[in-house]
Amino acid sequence: MNHIHQYCVFSALMQGFSSDGATVSDILSKCNHGLGTVCSLNGEIIIVDGEAYHFTPDDQLHKLAPTDRMPMIVATDFQPTLTKSLDALHMDTLKEALHPFFPAKQNNFIAVRVDATFRRIVYRIGGPQVRPREPLLELAKRQTVKTYENITGTLFGFYSPPYTNGICVAGFHLHFLSEDRRAGGHILEFEAENVELKAAVNTHVHLEFPESEAFNEELMQPELAKDLHLAE
Ligand SMILES: [Zn+2]
Repeated sequence: MNHIHQYCVFSALMQGFSSDGATVSDILSKCNHGLGTVCSLNGEIIIVDGEAYHFTPDDQLHKLAPTDRMPMIVATDFQPTLTKSLDALHMDTLKEALHPFFPAKQNNFIAVRVDATFRRIVYRIGGPQVRPREPLLELAKRQTVKTYENITGTLFGFYSPPYTNGICVAGFHLHFLSEDRRAGGHILEFEAENVELKAAVNTHVHLEFPESEAFNEELMQPELAKDLHLAE
């Protein structure tokens, strides 16, 4: 059985909450794949095969230390139940490629991994905040966007159903890690070939909330979640 372990909710990031956090060692004790961000929203995290990597906005890769904290992390002990080899796959055809999970599992959370050669891949790296509680949409205005051609690597992330937006990011939320461990970030578009696609339906979601007072300083505004896809 595949379970999701999530720390914090995406609505909190929209309002700039980025302190506290689950430790890397805690998450890696339960999970081998995932995505998230670091304190002050300084870049993107991807966890692949039990290793946690952090990309900063200057396009550098760092390996996270066991004591590092992640104010937002969505992770899973990934045990794929669907595996396919495909000649080609695009962002737009991903849902279709995940047949029979769509529509049979359309109201579930689905973990997705893609190993491929990317003819073209576009990703972004956000942050960092320049002041405490700077909202995510402000950071999005100065995010780094990178395009690579002919690069091999791995995408990992989740499909979250529309009714969960705000707690999660509705739709596909995928991060990238190149095979040479030099490039990666939050995926905007991709065109892949020689694809191995793996996926699993998650039967449980374990959601941990920050315990600090800062988490409750501002009432979270649900209407802000409609712009989550622009920022996260
Ligand atoms: Zn992301």
